[in-house]
Amino acid sequence: MMNSSLPDMDGFVDEARTWLEANARARADVAQAWGVGSDDVSVFHDLTEAEEKELLDRLMAWQRRKFDAGYGAITWPHEHGGAGLPAAYERAFVAEEARFETPAGHETFSVTTHLIAPTIRSFGTAEQQDRFIRPLLRTEELCCQLFSEPGAGSDLAGLATRAVPDGDEWVVTGQKVWSSGAQFSAWGLAICRTDPQVTKHAGLTAFLLPMDAPGVDVRPIRQITGGSSFNEVFLDGVRVPDRLRLGGVGDGWKVTLLTLAFERAASGASREERGGSWDRVLGLARHMGATTDPLIRQRLAELYTLDRLRSLSTERLAAAAAANGDGDPGPVGSIGKLQWTAWMSQLSDVVSGLLGSSLTADTGEWGTFSWNAHVLGAPGYRIAGGSDEIQRTIIGERVLGLPPEPRPDRGVPFTQIQR
Ligand SMILES: Cc1cc2nc3c(=O)[nH]c(=O)nc-3n(C[C@H](O)[C@H](O)[C@H](O)COP(=O)(O)OP(=O)(O)OC[C@H]3O[C@@H](n4cnc5c(N)ncnc54)[C@H](O)[C@@H]3O)c2cc1C
Repeated sequence: MMNSSLPDMDGFVDEARTWLEANARARADVAQAWGVGSDDVSVFHDLTEAEEKELLDRLMAWQRRKFDAGYGAITWPHEHGGAGLPAAYERAFVAEEARFETPAGHETFSVTTHLIAPTIRSFGTAEQQDRFIRPLLRTEELCCQLFSEPGAGSDLAGLATRAVPDGDEWVVTGQKVWSSGAQFSAWGLAICRTDPQVTKHAGLTAFLLPMDAPGVDVRPIRQITGGSSFNEVFLDGVRVPDRLRLGGVGDGWKVTLLTLAFERAASGASREERGGSWDRVLGLARHMGATTDPLIRQRLAELYTLDRLRSLSTERLAAAAAANGDGDPGPVGSIGKLQWTAWMSQLSDVVSGLLGSSLTADTGEWGTFSWNAHVLGAPGYRIAGGSDEIQRTIIGERVLGLPPEPRPDRGVPFTQIQR
């Protein structure tokens, strides 16, 4: 049934197109033309810190323009500067926007707008919502995830970074790792252990930690693909006021689960061609004269099927998230993430088969060696945001209701767990 209070979709799209035409340059239609435009199909940026900062600045400036025009937070309520519209309007805008030249996406940008801002909406006090949500959605400031530690990744609830109360402050000491974009972030959502005497999930608390506070040391990690998207973050007696605690003392695991659910739902939901697209692979197969080979045709058909399934899942997750009211799709988000990483892995296999040695030796030919960055980068997303194995466990236990894995540390105080 039509909701008469909603703007007419065609009118919305026309207005959006007019705004985009006035604010950005139309993209030349290069998606399927072999040899035209950039042949970048990388999953991670291979940029220097200065180049990455420059990319982020352009992206943040573009987001501010969109936000001020009403297109930067389409599904968010008016009180947070959003347009208060259903997800279908956002999808329509994103489809229009894809026809224009806009700055390339960046992980920290989506962490800020799609993971942290909605988490603050669910757990933040009125004061925190007021202080953080609009600036994060408008990307005046970025926020990274300070979750993983050297001894706690899949078993995130086993993390050891301590936050000890001291008056109306907390003193945070420990080490985080793989913190994407920490070098560009004003804030970090840090999960810390505030009570080691209770079970591991119960003793955690979340904080919005200022990254410029004394005692925060961010050290970039060089990746196999060249750039340094993520970092080690050392926290040495960092003082965080209690007003920056997100959620109750001991609620850190609930905060974590919600952020991770947003992360899984966001994985692969972008229409951006990060890591290559179906059109790119088909273009490569045609260029290599391989589309008449029955075995390759079979692999391509499988890949196309995965691509379609993945986009149908994205639609389904968006509908589930909208139905839940707070944008959280729940554990089914793991299905979308797993389909995305399966698509990326299979894509790597198909292009590796097509390219053979051209994948490892750069002959300078357009659209060939560039896939090397895809093949080296794609496995990263089988780990980030919870590995494939962990997604399968979530689907098994929380979607299908299968018997849970044995967990010997269940009910055991953190201090008594063997580590
Ligand atoms: C590109 C990238 C970006 C990231 N960005 C961030 C970030 O911004 N912030 C942040 O906090 N973290 C980030 N991470 C870290 C990420 O969340 C962890 O790497 C991930 O949770 C896995 O943890 P681990 O590396 O400690 O591996 P481990 O937990 O040690 O896992 C090693 C292997 O064992 C398997 N395994 C572990 N436990 C089980 C089990 N119970 N059942 C079956 N198999 C299991 C895993 O699947 C994996 O294959 C990022 C990681 C990557 C790759």
